[in-house]
Amino acid sequence: MTITRFAPSPTGYLHVGNLRTALMNFLIARKVGGCFILRIDDTDPNRSQESYVKAIQEDLDWLGLHWNRLERQSDRLDKYYNSVSDLRNNDRLYEAFETSTELELKRKKQLNAGQPPVYDRSALKLTEKEQHSFRQERGNGVWRFKLDHQRITWCDQILGDLSIDCSSVSDPVLIRQDGQFLYTLASVVDDLDMGITHVVRGSDHVTNTAIQVQIIKALGGDVPQFAHHSLLTDTRGDALAKRLGTLALRDLRKKGIEPMALLSLLARLGTSKPVELRTSMDELIDGFCLSEFGTSSTKFDESDLYPLTGRYLQTLPFSAVSSDLSALGIPSSVAEQVWYAVRNNIETLNDVRFWWAIFQDGAEPLIDDRDRTFICQAIKLLPSGPVDNNTWKLWTDLVKSETGRKGRELFMPLRKALTGQSHGPDMSIVMPLLHVIKVRDLVE
Ligand code: GLU
Repeated sequence: MTITRFAPSPTGYLHVGNLRTALMNFLIARKVGGCFILRIDDTDPNRSQESYVKAIQEDLDWLGLHWNRLERQSDRLDKYYNSVSDLRNNDRLYEAFETSTELELKRKKQLNAGQPPVYDRSALKLTEKEQHSFRQERGNGVWRFKLDHQRITWCDQILGDLSIDCSSVSDPVLIRQDGQFLYTLASVVDDLDMGITHVVRGSDHVTNTAIQVQIIKALGGDVPQFAHHSLLTDTRGDALAKRLGTLALRDLRKKGIEPMALLSLLARLGTSKPVELRTSMDELIDGFCLSEFGTSSTKFDESDLYPLTGRYLQTLPFSAVSSDLSALGIPSSVAEQVWYAVRNNIETLNDVRFWWAIFQDGAEPLIDDRDRTFICQAIKLLPSGPVDNNTWKLWTDLVKSETGRKGRELFMPLRKALTGQSHGPDMSIVMPLLHVIKVRDLVE
């Protein structure tokens, strides 16, 4: 059984880059009827916030990325203790007492000498007596994992064959001085315990993977399949960061972006295939293939989401949006009529409000100088009495025969005078919805 996880730390709102990771893990699990776990990586109590835990769940719910299981690392500290004692018993953990200033100094010296800035393992040479006096003087040390100095290779499902020489990597700290377990360890313990079969995450984790493969092996576990996707950037090429709040999912939601538009874009952005609008999760799942993703960093342009959202909305029947329209203040007596009038002329649901204001309150007429006389003539010919879908045709036929204008010269000035817009829904549908025709006042 395929088991994947999305493992955000609750230190900010999810952005589109995080969503890319979540979506890939969700889709590969769903594609084969597997299990998708939402794991909250909250071992750091200073940086984690409950409000973000809630927000992460709200955002995924909104997108329809439902998880089969929710786990929190803060509930699993016992498991990390147990694994730590296994590693200690196997001499894979050692305590180190250097301060950050001392470490920095060592790094500088190494760099000046043209050597890679890899931790020199001085702590391994300490006698028990020296350890004791360090503890007296500085309190507990950090605990580092002793890497085997060998190459770790794996076939990455996106990046292909990868190989990392662990002799050029510092022994990672797994437990901080204050006893807090770090992600590098907690993540491995969880992945093993939860039977994770596929780990898909950003390419910023490639070195972690080499380290984690060693920890997995040290704990006697099976190595899952790894895939590292390239990182999304904004249109300037700058990295996205939770703490900066750029391209946060909840902001896109507020702007009226539809989940299927966002998911459709992310399921294809960075592949060689064109973006295709998917209108259901099943379609999205069918059309998804992890190995189609490229290796170079990918720009995300928010403006691509609006036409996709518009196209998605065009597919929706009234029943799918009735509650949204009522939330926009559109009376239920006309909501269906309004929806079918405007759905091909909007990018987001918020735009319905724009058209509704025109229908309800009338638009400021837009009249080119050369059309003034024509508009006066035309308005005088407006049929009186109830307005229906035939009114536009009757009226424009009449205006045509009285003024001799036809085609665009006839229709466009009338549209602009009535709606204040040069684009919009079919005027025969608009006419019965227009409560107020302001241009009348100019003529009378
Ligand atoms: N909490 C980690 C992060 O947000 C998870 C990385 C992983 O998927 O292993 O970067």
